[in-house]
This record gives sequence, C-alpha cells and structure tokens, in this order.
Amino acid sequence: MTTVPATRYETVIGLEVHVQLQTERKMFCGCSAGYADAPPNTHVCPVCMALPGVLPVINRRAVELTVLTALALNCEIPSYSKFDRKNYPYPDLLKGYQISQYDLPLSRDGWLEIQLEGEEPRRIGITRVHLEEDTARLAHRTDGSGETYSLIDMNRAGVPLMEIVGEPDLRSAEEAREYLVKLRQILRYTGVSKVNLEEGNFRCDANISLRPAGLDELGSKVEVKNMNSFRAVYDALRFEVDRQTHDLDAGNRIPQETRGWVETEGRTVSQRSKEEAHDYRYFPEPDLPPLTFQADFVERLRGQLPELPDARRRRFEEEYALPRYEANLLTESRARADFYEAAVAPARGHDHGTFVKHAKQVANWMLGDFARLLNASAMDIADAKVAPADLYAMIALVEGGTITGKVAKSVFDEMFRTGQAPDAVVEELGLEQMRGSDEITAVVDQVISANPKPVADYQGGKQEALKFLVGQAMKETRGRADPASLTEILKARLEAKA
Ligand SMILES: [Zn+2]
Repeated sequence: MTTVPATRYETVIGLEVHVQLQTERKMFCGCSAGYADAPPNTHVCPVCMALPGVLPVINRRAVELTVLTALALNCEIPSYSKFDRKNYPYPDLLKGYQISQYDLPLSRDGWLEIQLEGEEPRRIGITRVHLEEDTARLAHRTDGSGETYSLIDMNRAGVPLMEIVGEPDLRSAEEAREYLVKLRQILRYTGVSKVNLEEGNFRCDANISLRPAGLDELGSKVEVKNMNSFRAVYDALRFEVDRQTHDLDAGNRIPQETRGWVETEGRTVSQRSKEEAHDYRYFPEPDLPPLTFQADFVERLRGQLPELPDARRRRFEEEYALPRYEANLLTESRARADFYEAAVAPARGHDHGTFVKHAKQVANWMLGDFARLLNASAMDIADAKVAPADLYAMIALVEGGTITGKVAKSVFDEMFRTGQAPDAVVEELGLEQMRGSDEITAVVDQVISANPKPVADYQGGKQEALKFLVGQAMKETRGRADPASLTEILKARLEAKA
C-alpha cells in the first residue's frame, strides 16, 4: 500500500467520547458506582437488574457533572431536556433499552480549541454533551471441550455515562489525538471523571471519511471502534486514511460500515455494514420527568468551574514571564500547576525582577530534577513528599550561599525521598557550603600532597592535569565548595609551590 499526498483528499473526522462520571451512586438507583475491584454482580439492585415494576430516579450529581463539563466545553445549556429510551437487543442490556438522551440533550453547540505544533489554534465544534447509563459487561469464555459461553457482570450496568459528541471538524489523525489530549485534560481539571482509557472510564469511537479536496459533500462514513488508547485512535485513523485513499484511487466505493481496530494486527476489520445497522426506535422515557433548569442552577455550576488549562497557561506566561513551552508543561495537570503556584508564592514579597527570577528557578527545578524523580518512581506530583514551600526554601539556600548548586541536587534527592525540609537535610548530611578560603586551602593542600605526579605534570605545562586536581578536590569537599574559588585557590597554591 502506498501513501499518496494528503492534498488529493481531505480527511474528515468526528469523535464520540464516552466518559464514566465520578459519582458515588449509579445513574438511576442507589447502588455504588465504584465497582472496579468488586466481585461480579455485587453492586446490583432491582432497578439496575431491570426487574419488572421498578422505577428509576435521576442522580442529581451526574446531571451537575455533565452540565459542568458542557460549560467547560463552551456549550449552551437549554432550560429543558429529557431522557429517552434507546431500544436495542443485546445481552449486555437486560432491559432491552438504554436510558439515553435523543432530541433534547442537556447541552449543545460548544467548542474545544486545539493547536498543533507550529500551527494556528483551531476551534473544534462540540455537537452535544449528554447523559446516559452504562451497560453490563460480558466476559467471553471457552470451556474444556472448546465450547464457548459468556458471563454477564451487572456491576457496570447503570453507571452514569456522559457522551461528548464532536462535530466532524477534525482533519487528521494528529488533530484527533490532540483533541483527545485536550479533552482529557479539561475533564481532569474539572474532576468529573478519572479519565483512564485502560480502566475503560474514557472510551472513544471515531467517524472518518475522505472526500476529494475542495468538495463540501461528505464521503461515506466509516465508524471505527475498539480503540483502547490514544495511540490506538491515532494508529487506527492513520490506517483508515491509507486504506480509504487506496480504495478511492482504485475507483472503488467506500461502503458505509462499522469497523473494529485490531491492535495486534495494526488494522481495522469490517464488523457490520449499514444495512445491518440498528433502528433504535427512540421514545421519551415514560418513567422519568423531563428536566427544567433555572438560570441560577446553571450559573451556580459555572461558578464552580476551575480556571481551565488554556486560561491558566496564558496567565502563567504573563504573570511568571515563562516561555509558552514551560507554561504548557506546568499547567498540564491541575496538581502540577497548583504545586508550582504554591512554591512560587513566598517569592511574591520581592521586587518584580527577583520574583520573575525565582519563578523561573522553581520552573527549572520542577521540570528538571523533580520531573525526573517523579518519572523514575512512576509517581504523580499530588503524591510527592516534597512540600511546595520546601522547594522554594531550598532554592533560597542556594541563592543565599548556604549550599552550592551542585549540593542542591543531592539535597533535593533526599527531600524527595524523605519529605524532610531542606535545612534539616543540609544539617544532617553536613552539606553546608565551605565558607572562607582556609577550609578550602586545607583540602587543596591535602590533594596536592596526595598527587605528586599530576602536580608535576601541571607545573611542567600540562593544563589537563589541573582539571584532574580540581576534580579530586571537589570530590574531597563533596561539592560543598564553590568550584570557581576552589580552582583559584588551587592555582595559587600550585604557583606558590612551583
Ligand atoms: Zn442498582
């Protein structure tokens, strides 16, 4: 298969994302929604088991979290919405229908801004954010004789599920990936979901079609399912672009169908064609009242929105005079941004120049040694033992000359490991910077008498020998001496002895 220049066809992608909400209870009953480690069929009741004669009750928190998300995605919140029954026969749906929202969703007409490296920002339309219930889980097994059978676990049935439907505004697999990264970031900032693809609380389906460049009419839509990571979404879409390009070039028609991504083979396979598509026969859910929102309900939720990633990044660039790249990294998660601001806070008493300098130093430490240690221990910053004020205090020790920049690295390692304050670490390990030349001179003399050969070499004109002697002396001081003054003293002593 050959890849042709993308300019001949335009790629059109729309994503549908399902997100499990972080509520204590299920969508329409009192069962616990936290089923991750629970034995099968232990978080169930007559309502989510779909026994006859039961009545669902709307989970208010789930509605609030959905509206909160919709507001974060710049959606309009109509004052009136309702739930509908989406009918389809499948073993993971004991009721024979899913309670969802059809023509009057909780929100509509929003947007999400994405920006690829080196390109202008683009707004991707959000068609709607609505609320529904999750289905049960099926486990397919094979017994000893090779006979296949399926088990059903109802724990997931009825867990609040939010669906975010995007407009077909995305033009490449790269944009689709960026959209998902951005969406996940916003959902984490607002705290509405854990947003973990591996755990299945964030799922994505994609619609993709190609059309000759310049045409407005959409090509046949192919829906791709079964993608369990951002990488899988990206790979599946790249595969589809190539596959559809190849077929169109060969003069073939692209059938409208649903395809599944087969991770192990790196390709999509046809699952069902349009002819087999379900007619969901939606109708209003007769057991639930429609929802009517007062304006103050929506405004109260708007007031609960945190400062969102883009706004925070822009403020970081301005307030802390950080380059965009660093501001981006520091605001990647709310916890990291919060840590940064708490660590910089004590510098606010200084004049602007000093404040900006300290803000930069804190950024350097957070994106350098701190990030490295967090990575190495696969730890989130929210779980780190280092207190923000202690990071600042350590930087102040370097600034005040109590410790050298070199020693600061070991001090921070120890702070990271134990959670101790920097002055305690410095005292305990005796890492205070050597003050005055006497102490350094003593070390230098010791090194000179222990290394007669390099000393002779240096005196004979070999400059590299000096580097070796400086290294030996620095090692002797455990980095506690300022390298420049140590070198100066060493040279002076060597001259004197020559
Ligand atoms: Zn239940």
